[in-house]
Amino acid sequence: MSMVLPEPAERERLLADEIAGKFPDARGRFGPYGGRYVPETLIPALDRLEAGIRQHLHARDYQAQLNAELASWVGRPTALSFAPRLSAAWGARIWLKREDLAHTGAHKINNALGQALLAQRLGAKRIVAETGAGQHGVASAAACARLGLPCTVYMGAIDMERQAPNVGRMRLLGAKVVPVTGGDQTLRAAIDEALRDWVSDPSGTFYLLGSAVGPHPYPYLVRELQAIIGREARAQFLADQGALPDAVFACVGGGSNAIGMFHAFVPDRAVRIIGVEAGGRGTGLGENAASLSYGRPGVLQGCYSLLLQDEDGQIQETDSISAGLDYPGVGPEHALLLAAGRVQYESAGDDEALEALQECARLEGILPALETAHAFHGVRRWARANPGGRAILCLSGRGDKDMPTLQRTVLA
Ligand SMILES: *Cc1c(COP(=O)(O)O)cnc(C)c1O
Repeated sequence: MSMVLPEPAERERLLADEIAGKFPDARGRFGPYGGRYVPETLIPALDRLEAGIRQHLHARDYQAQLNAELASWVGRPTALSFAPRLSAAWGARIWLKREDLAHTGAHKINNALGQALLAQRLGAKRIVAETGAGQHGVASAAACARLGLPCTVYMGAIDMERQAPNVGRMRLLGAKVVPVTGGDQTLRAAIDEALRDWVSDPSGTFYLLGSAVGPHPYPYLVRELQAIIGREARAQFLADQGALPDAVFACVGGGSNAIGMFHAFVPDRAVRIIGVEAGGRGTGLGENAASLSYGRPGVLQGCYSLLLQDEDGQIQETDSISAGLDYPGVGPEHALLLAAGRVQYESAGDDEALEALQECARLEGILPALETAHAFHGVRRWARANPGGRAILCLSGRGDKDMPTLQRTVLA
């Protein structure tokens, strides 16, 4: 563990403030994390976005429109499925929150649709978005098509090659996909390019960011739009079991499906909350993408959080079999929940995730995304130590998109 946790009294104070809804504070911080570390030119655009969120996000007509679209187009509420054969095999009782059944096959649509509707209310004429593996680009392109908004997606040139089917999907959905050839030619460079585009026309353009990362108010906005996952799961579980689960699990990349799943459960102190990061090939720098397990505090893309960096503060390359978890940073609210001792973060390696994915597919008839497979490994490990316990896992997405990787690995 590279991060020193605060003293117990300080942890309790951070948790009490988090439960009381005091974060993000007026400076956009979750305790010590978050904030806005951006060039001056971006501040007016972020201020406008923050004011727009304050005006619309919890207003009745925005919420009515969002909920209607979530019900009729996205397919919410998603099911909470008991997993009988996995439960028998692993020894605990396991329920799956089925975000794989949401339109476009993952939780990302909750955020993309919510932000696109907000953009429309703020009078934006076009949307820009970044994408790494292509899943957020597809969700953004779909939401923009639904609302009739032009959409430009920035994508690293290397990622465009690795994720060719998603590039085609975005184009079919009417989006313009722009290759980014600068920087690392992957997600980080794509975010920088989308920010640059936004700054050049902050009132006509809306930047639709894909995870609970980046400068304030994005981590807050994305959390609010994804929190429906945990609210639904908590109510569904209570209705079915008449009690709360012993534990909830989610995989953590930037942290949007995890914060969405966890948020409603944070005040339920008896419920253990566990986030599972990408352990990649090993524990060394460059071998994984587990920022909360192995990272140290620093600034990346406008936000102070835990990062994978070397002694000199150079951001490290990351490695994971799962493209959606392959990012050197993590959302600031997760760094806070770690510091407050409320959420336990652990990692699952490439091989462990692949194994858990196959068990889920064979035993439950569900092929989960490789990202989600990391959370399955976390549940499997927990089940061994907690026989008879009851756990909910956020099944963040379906695995059809991962067939090329699965062909190369477990099917080879
Ligand atoms: C993108 C993605 C993730 C990782 O992103 P988060 O913001 O951490 O949720 C996880 N699962 C699936 C299926 C994804 O597409």
